[in-house]
Amino acid sequence: MVERRLAALRRILSDDEIPAMLVTGVSNMRYLTGFDGVFDDGINAACLVTSEHARFYTDARYSEAARAAAEGTPWTVRQTSGSMYVDICRELQSEGVAQLALESSVPYGRFKFISEQFVGSVRVTDGLVEGIRQVKEAAEIERIQEAARLTDAAFEHILGYVRAGLTEREVALELEFWMRKNGSEGVAFAPIVASGPNSSRPHATVSDRVIQSGDFLKLDFGACVDGYRADMTRTIVVGRADERQQEVYAAVLAANQAGLAAVRGGVAASDVDAAARSVLTERGFGERFTHGLGHGVGLDIHELPTLNAESRDQLRTGAVVTIEPGVYLEGAFGVRIEDLVVVEEAGCRVLTRSPKELIQLD
Ligand code: ZN
Ligand code: ZN
Repeated sequence: MVERRLAALRRILSDDEIPAMLVTGVSNMRYLTGFDGVFDDGINAACLVTSEHARFYTDARYSEAARAAAEGTPWTVRQTSGSMYVDICRELQSEGVAQLALESSVPYGRFKFISEQFVGSVRVTDGLVEGIRQVKEAAEIERIQEAARLTDAAFEHILGYVRAGLTEREVALELEFWMRKNGSEGVAFAPIVASGPNSSRPHATVSDRVIQSGDFLKLDFGACVDGYRADMTRTIVVGRADERQQEVYAAVLAANQAGLAAVRGGVAASDVDAAARSVLTERGFGERFTHGLGHGVGLDIHELPTLNAESRDQLRTGAVVTIEPGVYLEGAFGVRIEDLVVVEEAGCRVLTRSPKELIQLD
């Protein structure tokens, strides 16, 4: 699979007449190398890809693990001692490489340093590896599915834990603890646990607010398995829902279902967004759906494709995306329902299995 990934990148480089590319985005390096057990939050590494070579540069802290992971792969590991970028530029120069491509995510200081070190021209590329990552391999989908399964199980667990009188922070910690105890590597992202009026903020930060009876509780979280993430939102009522809460919930659920029904291979991402958005507009909540419908998920929690009104992306068969409409009424409450799906030729396969009818915890 690593060979296929490298070949896909080399095809792009060849089409764009790029002789050498330096990949430094961590998820992109992880994807291109396929290395397990090497990458952590502090990794110091770079991947160099040319038509002939695939080299992984890192320092002594990571080189032993990298050499073990590289066995049987097309990757050669180079241990650097001083400045990694000085070593790379020197090596490229000795091989007569005249142009080097960097990723647009590279920090400006590093860009400047490499531009000064490299004898030749430096150019910036955008989204090359990210584009390849959009369409998932079967083994990647399996990992995402396992992360989604753990996420569903955590939701079931938390339904038995949540009650009025607990704080948002206590619920967030219990979610994280349960997922990690049951096999999740950390969390896919910091969980959102937003109660009552806090739920009107789409990305509320977890607070010490005490959950009250009658509150909406918006839970947006995911597990992580072998580097692959899941993402789900469910909004429940602690106590009984009033009429207004039921009305908004029903609208968001209808939008979620319309979004799911619009997903299939080759469809424009903006059309899927419009399918869900029009349901909310018809019910008078169009202005209250203040973000895009969804995003790709994989090694990163937000990756390509982007599902919103302006997106020019297409949903390709094999992509994994979220469908997450929401309605946010400032000062009152907010509701979001988010599912994770695999795009298929004629529709989609929903990985999220947690129930979507309005849950009222008495
Ligand atoms: Zn989410
Ligand atoms: Zn999401």
